[in-house]
Amino acid sequence: QAKQVGRNNYRYYSPEMNRHAEERIAMETALSRAIENNELFILYQPKMDVMSNRISGMEALLRWNHPVFGAVPPQRFIRLAEEVGLIHSIGYWAIRNACRQNREWQRINPARMKVAVNLSARQLGDDKLIDNITNILAETMLEARYLELEIAESAVMADPDKAIAVLNALRDIGVSVAIDDFGAGYSSLAYLKQFPIRAVKIDQSFVQGVPFSRSDAAITKAIINLAHSLECSVIAEGAETQQQFDFLRDNDCDSVQGFFFSEPVSAEHFTDLLRVQANLHIH
Ligand code: C2E
Ligand code: MG
Ligand code: MG
Ligand code: MG
Repeated sequence: QAKQVGRNNYRYYSPEMNRHAEERIAMETALSRAIENNELFILYQPKMDVMSNRISGMEALLRWNHPVFGAVPPQRFIRLAEEVGLIHSIGYWAIRNACRQNREWQRINPARMKVAVNLSARQLGDDKLIDNITNILAETMLEARYLELEIAESAVMADPDKAIAVLNALRDIGVSVAIDDFGAGYSSLAYLKQFPIRAVKIDQSFVQGVPFSRSDAAITKAIINLAHSLECSVIAEGAETQQQFDFLRDNDCDSVQGFFFSEPVSAEHFTDLLRVQANLHIH
């Protein structure tokens, strides 16, 4: 028994193996309708400046709530979207909405901040990336310097020469780039020097090991020093405790993001955080 999935794509099932495959197809179909059905939304997590202890930016984190599948973890639906080619529509939806939201925050908050949006490997390879980002910035009236793209080290290293070209093009239109999950991939230092990047994000697997794991502490310090010597800012992600925060501050990390300060929250809740911080009178 064969069932057609998309173009010229036949899959064969035996009765034992098909439950999993059918759920996947159902999820793929559901994901293809997630935008029109208003099932996607974005949470924002503050990035805290270590010296001032104030919010200095935010990361947009995509969420998908489906009536049957429930809250599907981003790791799962982003990977599915990558595999079936839905990542472009979903990814640009996320960038557009994050830009629009940041523009809105700029109207009420004089302290302007960058919004960071994640970009997957396949998005990085999109020939229309620069044109589409340019159009989204024009449409949402957000200045390019207030958009940052977070690209995982592993995505950059999948095709480093191509990545250098894309990162240069992003820099030319004024959008900044942070290397995400740094330390978990396999960058050669020779390449790292050639990437026009503003910031490096230390992978949470190391951050969560400090200060007690000697190797995680050593790696974290080495990444901070490396980033600074390349004139990049360093941000630690996944900080959950006071001890982790103290270690990062004492070792000159520039910013920290993690449950220690705040989980990812709705745009409305984030507005409250900004209001408290700025003592704003937003009506
Ligand atoms: P990421 O970019 O590395 O995001 C950091 C993840 O760590 C987020 O998971 C965040 O909720 C989580 N996190 C933050 N602080 C803490 C902490 O203190 N402790 C722990 N245990 N976790 C913390 P989330 O939201 O589940 O996102 C997972 C991944 O999905 C992201 O990893 C990113 O790679 C991807 N993703 C999310 N939104 C988008 C998007 O709009 N586009 C693309 N292409 N990928 C996205
Ligand atoms: Mg990220
Ligand atoms: Mg990360
Ligand atoms: Mg991660």
